[in-house]
Amino acid sequence: MASDKIIGIDLGTTNTAFSILEIEQPEVIPNQEGERTTPSVVAFTDSGEQLVGNLARNQAIQNPTRTIFSIKRKMGRRDFTKEIGENEFTPEELSAAILRKVRRDASEYFDEDICRAVITVPAYFNDRQRQATKNAGEIAGFTVERIINEPTAAAMAYGIDEHQDQRVLVFDLGGGTFDISIMELGEGVYDVIATAGINHLGGDDWDSALVELLSERFRKEHDINLQKDPEAKQRLQEAAEKAKKELSTRHETRINLPFITATEDGPLNLEDRITREEFEKITEGLRKKLRKPTEQALKDANCSTHDIDNVLLVGGATRMPQIKRVAEDITGKDPSTSINPDEAVALGAGIQGGVISGRKDDQVLLDVTPMSLGIEIQGGLMERLIPRNTTIPTQTSKLYTTSHDAQSSVYIQVFQGEEDIADRNELLAEFELEGIPPAEAGTPEIYVDFSIDINGIVEVSARDEMSGNFEAVRIVGGSGLSDEELEVMKHKADKIEDQTISDDHRFIARERANRAAGVGERLLLNQDIPLTPTAAIHIEAGIDRVETLLEDPESLTKDLESATEDLLHDIELHGGTEALGEDTPGMQTN
Ligand code: AMP
Repeated sequence: MASDKIIGIDLGTTNTAFSILEIEQPEVIPNQEGERTTPSVVAFTDSGEQLVGNLARNQAIQNPTRTIFSIKRKMGRRDFTKEIGENEFTPEELSAAILRKVRRDASEYFDEDICRAVITVPAYFNDRQRQATKNAGEIAGFTVERIINEPTAAAMAYGIDEHQDQRVLVFDLGGGTFDISIMELGEGVYDVIATAGINHLGGDDWDSALVELLSERFRKEHDINLQKDPEAKQRLQEAAEKAKKELSTRHETRINLPFITATEDGPLNLEDRITREEFEKITEGLRKKLRKPTEQALKDANCSTHDIDNVLLVGGATRMPQIKRVAEDITGKDPSTSINPDEAVALGAGIQGGVISGRKDDQVLLDVTPMSLGIEIQGGLMERLIPRNTTIPTQTSKLYTTSHDAQSSVYIQVFQGEEDIADRNELLAEFELEGIPPAEAGTPEIYVDFSIDINGIVEVSARDEMSGNFEAVRIVGGSGLSDEELEVMKHKADKIEDQTISDDHRFIARERANRAAGVGERLLLNQDIPLTPTAAIHIEAGIDRVETLLEDPESLTKDLESATEDLLHDIELHGGTEALGEDTPGMQTN
């Protein structure tokens, strides 16, 4: 039966976390693996199995071209698809794969079908990106109850235990986005006054700066560009992220990547050393970018740094000392340490879920739209109809007419952004108002309504006053997916889901079987461990059985598991694993 519970999901660039509020306080829900965050990574094996989370991340080096990281950076882009074999996946579908795992894990945790969710997005996401996130939720089988902004969610998690009125600045640097929000909190009311940010700036960029540095140094020494080799690049990226994290607590770190590549003379290793000082030097340009949006938000909120009572740091990348320093520099305040930057957003989303499901009724959220909404007028200029930082939901109307006699249609282009030249902004939709009854120029009255709903999603509709015609609008290049397209994607995801559940399971079973067979082989070949002829025959037969099942795509996972257990049992019985000094794959040996 479908549950009435509403979970809150922080669908992050790097990690995803989810929570629920059942009584008073929100709590993070652990995933199936028992962890509080799930890597936002999706992969497809050569045989077409889909992996999500840790399983996907752990095989990335062996399978770099079929592993997808940071898909959030591509959200809202209709020109991007990832080709995997014969299939193509949109950013919505890949994000949906992550959300499907969330749904599965939460449903398993509560033993109820969890299908309602609040999902967070960076405050600075535009309409297209919000719509794409909502679609991803729906493809994953959720009813998306609300899209809320990440910094707002973080402030809710912080504010739930605060009883004093205050003005806070949320400084949110995640894996791929940077957001600043200024809001007023007091007695359960969260009133966002201004928000600003950069949609494509995050911890990933700090990793890339390190990758550049390391590969450049390697190139100078060996004249080889590691970035051309997908496997080497993937290893380099992982090492760079690790080094970056280490430099958050240490002043120096070493990078050691054996056999990163090979020449005619043999394998080459990458061995390097980076100090925090060097790291900060090469990322100075990135740091500089943080200042402008922060100042912009302060200006839009009509306040100076003196009016800010508290600074909250959110997003994993704010763990870097250089980021803390920038936030301190700009705001002149010591950031609060009372929230966990990795969990605050998910917890806030959980609170909002609790509010919507009626479990909590003393929290009110007043959010704003991050960007101005407007239309193109004469001379290619942008006329702003809803200015940025207007409290949502909001709505406005504009009266149109014709410029020549018997004109039967008008063309309207809707943009979002702050540029004065219309087409430098994001084009959301193009409308052709058709079917205007023949009339003298300037007499028809056509009202076009522009609204932004509580999720920050834009809706446009038009009405011809004379004919009362509402259907005279035709979307020429809409931003969202049609209902039919959504249905097709849901269907495709259902099919993959059928595979994934058993495949996650099968993947683990296969890994275990392979390793067991390997241990068995080594035991048979090892001259130092004498086996009785009967034991050898047993083990050989066990390996054969496991390998036959591994090669047969139709074999049942449970048969493979039982053959693996039998083989492991025989190996154990003859002291094989101990003598070889190996861990029995997955077996409790204590
Ligand atoms: P989020 O999107 O909030 O999960 O943030 C993820 C980003 O934070 C990634 O770029 C991580 O590499 C980065 N991150 C996480 N922990 C640390 C740390 N201790 N030091 C520096 N960056 C970190």
